[in-house]
Amino acid sequence: MPGSIAIARVFGIDIRIHLSWFLIFGLLLFTLSDPTGGLFRSLRPTWSDQKLVIVSAVTALLFFASVLSHELAHALVARAFRMPVSSITLFLLGGVANLAKEPPSARAEFLMAAAGPATSLVLGGIGIAIAGFGSGVVTEFSALDPVLVIANYLGYINVALAIFNMIPGFPLDGGRVLRSIVWGIAHDRARATGVAARGGQLVAGLLLLFGIWRIFAENDAFGGVWMGMIAYFLYNAASSSLEQERVASAVSGATVGPLMAQQFLSVHPRTPLAELVYGHLVPHNARAVAVVDGDRLTGLVTIADLQKVDQAAWPQTPVEEVMTPAAQLPAVSPTTKLMGAIEAFAASALPVLPVMDAGRLVGMLDREAVASYIRMRESLGLR
Ligand SMILES: [Zn+2]
Repeated sequence: MPGSIAIARVFGIDIRIHLSWFLIFGLLLFTLSDPTGGLFRSLRPTWSDQKLVIVSAVTALLFFASVLSHELAHALVARAFRMPVSSITLFLLGGVANLAKEPPSARAEFLMAAAGPATSLVLGGIGIAIAGFGSGVVTEFSALDPVLVIANYLGYINVALAIFNMIPGFPLDGGRVLRSIVWGIAHDRARATGVAARGGQLVAGLLLLFGIWRIFAENDAFGGVWMGMIAYFLYNAASSSLEQERVASAVSGATVGPLMAQQFLSVHPRTPLAELVYGHLVPHNARAVAVVDGDRLTGLVTIADLQKVDQAAWPQTPVEEVMTPAAQLPAVSPTTKLMGAIEAFAASALPVLPVMDAGRLVGMLDREAVASYIRMRESLGLR
């Protein structure tokens, strides 16, 4: 997600914050601490303005930790099922764990999806229990009183987080749970995705109506616009999941071999970039060239790699200085399932993938060739 900054690394997972998250943080801080009509002012009218701000800031930070725990729970269960999670991003509408792969089984998806809301529910239960137990012991004027106020607020907000996420619209956690159940019963992931994603679109529609109602009937423009944004996000995400599943079923039987180009350009690692550009890329209208030493693939050089070097230095810079080394390229062979190659394209942003067979470079698979294959199947009405 562009516009996000990495702030920490937990269990080998990058924790990133999108700029829009600061908006949430500021907003939450304000709604809690506002000395004239904030939530904590109404709960504790005797607190000083300074105490309001400090308690609110601690609450907002712990809320942030709560959302992070929810996402980490998803990520750790995903990892237990060998679905690598590279990063977690917190943004305007909550958090997302960036999964590189689709879950391998209905059970894996169920456990992964349920882990987040379950964590929020446990945190909520702890908060409410602390507040409930403490209210009988601690008075409003004790030094421990702010702890109870914070625990109570976080208790309810975590329960609310669990409930919102369990709404059965894909890709919300509840939608994933629904998909895993349909998938487990019908043994058909594509159908399960269809059901859960249409659920997501339906929920998005209802949220939008609710948002409009809030604007006009309740005169709550802020709340209404907020609902509308969640609806928009949810609708887009549900629709792109449907699209992804459609692609997956269109290419389900296909492999890389028939789609790869067996004739392809190659250069030696010591070739200067100027020769690469004017001798190979431009005349052949190519976007990437294999880098080959003898019969060994040493890397892949793309147009994007050229941007790493100033144009004036092209004559002196050899290809091997800017290429993606072979060891970092996704492993694709002629028998690789096309969906596997599509996932490799999605993960790498490379325009072409070298295709290897028994350690030998046998072809190049172009992103465009895959896209046109999918279009061809669709225009023939093949599913
Ligand atoms: Zn979640």
